[in-house]
Order: sequence, then C-alpha cells, then structure tokens
Amino acid sequence: MKCPYCSANDTRVVDSRPSDEGLAIRRRRECGACGRRFTTYERPQLEPLMVIKRSGRREAFNPDKLLRGLLLACEKRPVDPERLKRFAYSFEDTVEGPTITAEEIGLRAMAFLRELDEVAYIRFASVYREFDSVERFIEEIRSLARGPEPEEEA
Ligand SMILES: [Zn+2]
Repeated sequence: MKCPYCSANDTRVVDSRPSDEGLAIRRRRECGACGRRFTTYERPQLEPLMVIKRSGRREAFNPDKLLRGLLLACEKRPVDPERLKRFAYSFEDTVEGPTITAEEIGLRAMAFLRELDEVAYIRFASVYREFDSVERFIEEIRSLARGPEPEEEA
C-alpha cells in the first residue's frame, strides 16, 4: 500500500489487531521513505446489488434514489411514507443474484404502487416508462380501468 503522505510504495505493517469486536482488522503501517505512520482498517464488504441501466452502464443500487421516486409519485396522496420506506430499504433483499436491470426495478415499483394508489402508480409509470406517446399513456390508464392483471394477487 502506498504512503498517503509521500506516495512511496515502501510501507510496512508494524502492528495488526482486531477492531470493532472482530469485525475489522486495524493495521498500523510505517512508510520506509518518510517514516510517517498511518492506520488502515480491513473489513468485509458485501457485494452491492448492481443496477444495469438502459444505456448498459452499471451502478450500485441506491435505495434512497428508489425512495425519492416513490415519494415523488405519492406526493399529496393518502399513502403512508413508512410503507414506501419499507419497500425501498428491503428491496435489495428481494433480488436474487448480483444484478438487476433498471427496467425490472421500475416494473416492481409499479406493481407495488398499483396496489397502494392508482394516481401514484400512473405518475410513477409515466416517468419510469418515459411514455413516448399520448396513446401509450391512455393505454396505461385503460389497463388500470380494467382492473388488476389476473397474475397479480390482491
Ligand atoms: Zn511516506
């Protein structure tokens, strides 16, 4: 590891001990070039859920971002924000595997909102699906009027 003070590669561990009740290892290192000491912590990092965006770019799943979208859709609607929080913060646990597409997140969020509040659902859907035409939007409203899809459980 490089020295954070002088960037020399010549650093050595002078002390190593468990920290955070064994959840981390604290190491004292000393730079052979400038003689300064610094501390590093080694801890397990759980693999973050990666979101594959439409552009193909990947980014770590961010529950706050999902929550913001939900809150926005539910603005001034009779929806308990706690339910939105629970959905956003437990979302990662419901995903199997290390990746999910942004589209799939949107679909799941829409299915969730549809149960809660139809106006919120339409708002969210209009942003998420980026309706390319008025026809698509009307189609969506019509499908709402027809009621829930048969595969959805009440
Ligand atoms: Zn140094």
